[in-house]
Amino acid sequence: MERKTIHSVTLDTDKCRGCVSCMRRCPTEAIRVRNKKAKVLYDRCIGCGECVRVCPHHAKIPAFDSFDMIHKYKYKVAIVAPSFYGQFKSQYDINLILNGLLAVGFDDVEEVAKAAELVSEATREWMKNTQDIKHPIINTACPTIVELILVRFHGLIDNLLPLQTPADVAIKLAYKKAKEKGYKDEEIGIFFISPCPAKVLALKNGIGIKSPLVTGVLSMAEVYYKVVTALSQIKEVKPLNKAGFLGVAWASSGGEALGVNKEKYLEASGIENVIAVLKEIENGKLENLDFVELNACTGGCVGGVLTVENPFVAKAKIREFGKKIPCIGSTNTIKNAGLTYKDFDWEVVPTINDVFKLDENRIKAMQKLEQIESIYAKLPHFDCGVCGAPSCKAFAEDVVIEGFSIDDCTRMDERTTE
Ligand code: SF4
Ligand code: SF4
Repeated sequence: MERKTIHSVTLDTDKCRGCVSCMRRCPTEAIRVRNKKAKVLYDRCIGCGECVRVCPHHAKIPAFDSFDMIHKYKYKVAIVAPSFYGQFKSQYDINLILNGLLAVGFDDVEEVAKAAELVSEATREWMKNTQDIKHPIINTACPTIVELILVRFHGLIDNLLPLQTPADVAIKLAYKKAKEKGYKDEEIGIFFISPCPAKVLALKNGIGIKSPLVTGVLSMAEVYYKVVTALSQIKEVKPLNKAGFLGVAWASSGGEALGVNKEKYLEASGIENVIAVLKEIENGKLENLDFVELNACTGGCVGGVLTVENPFVAKAKIREFGKKIPCIGSTNTIKNAGLTYKDFDWEVVPTINDVFKLDENRIKAMQKLEQIESIYAKLPHFDCGVCGAPSCKAFAEDVVIEGFSIDDCTRMDERTTE
C-alpha cells in the first residue's frame, strides 16, 4: 500500500523513451523501466527531483498546482520562499518583488524568510533547553532530507530537528491573519511558491504537521515569469518586506546554519554529497558536531528544479539583496509573534518508511532474503540497467517480490562465459 497520497513527479509516457537515465540517477532506486517506459515506485520516491533534472526527453513532470487556482478564492495569500528573490535582478528591491505578487492577483504576501527568523530563534532555544540531544542535529527544512532518512537512514531519525519548517510556520501565520481579517475558511487561498516538487508533497501531506493549511503549491518558475512581466506596471511600492538577511539567507546552503549560530556545524548540498554525509553520521563519525545543515539541491533551495536562475548566480544575488535589508527583521521575534519556542515543536513525529521490508512475517522475510541472494548470485553483477532495474540486486528483489522473470536479464550468458 502506498503511504503517500500526492506524488512529487509524474511521467509523460508519450515523451518517455525508456532510456534509463532517470533510473540510474534516483537515490532510492525508486524507478524501474518496463516496456520501454519509466515507472516510479512512489513509496520509495523522496521527491528529490533528480529524475526531472536528468531526463533528456523532459518526460518527468514535477508536481505543482495551476496558477489559475488562486482565482477561486476571495482572499489569496502568496507564501514566498526566499529563493524566489534570487530569481530576480539584484538591482531590484525585495519590496518591489513582493508588490509584483500583488500585481499578478494576490491580496497579501507572507515571507517564509520572516518565519525562518522565528524558526532560527526557536532552534537556538530548543538546543539550549533540551536534554539528551542526539548529535549532530540534522535540519528538517528540506523535506527531501527528512524523506531520505525515513526511507534509507532509519538510525538517524532521532537526529532530526523536531521543529516545524519556516514554510509551515509562514502558512500558519498567513491563515491566522486571514481569520483575524474575518475571512471564512472557504474564502481563504494560501499558496506556497515552491522551488521544488518535494515541498509540494511535504506541505500537502504534512511533515510534523497534523492538519496542513496550504491550499495550493505553485511553481516558482511559473510565478516568476508572471511577476517579472508585471513589475513595470507597478505604480506604488508598498513596504511589504519584513524579513532581514538572516531569514533571506535560508534560500541557499549554509543560511540555516547561520541562523542557528553554532560554531561546530557542517553544511552540504546536492543529493550525492548529502548521502555521503549521512553515511558518515550513521558511522558515528560526526558526533562532535552540533548541527548539520543538508539540502538536497546543489546550492540549497536556489537549486530546486522549479527555479529559473543558475543556483550559484541566485546565491550571489541573495547576498546582494541581503545588503539592502537589516540583519534581522526588527519585529521578528518569537515573543512579538505571541509564541514560545515550544509552539514550533512537531505536532506529529514522522514514521519510518520501511519500503525495503520484504515481508511482515519474519520467517517469510528470511525466506525471501535467501531467494534474493540466490538469484543475485546467478546474475552478472554488471548493474547495466538493461533489465529495467537500477542494479542487479534490485532486479533480484523484483524477481522475488514483483514476480518478474529472471529471463528478463539478457546478459546472463555473459556471466557464464566470463
Ligand atoms: S524524484 Fe528523486 S526519488 Fe523520486 S523518482 Fe525521481 S529521482 Fe527518484
Ligand atoms: S533543497 Fe530546497 S529546493 Fe531542494 S528539495 Fe530541499 S527544500 Fe526543495
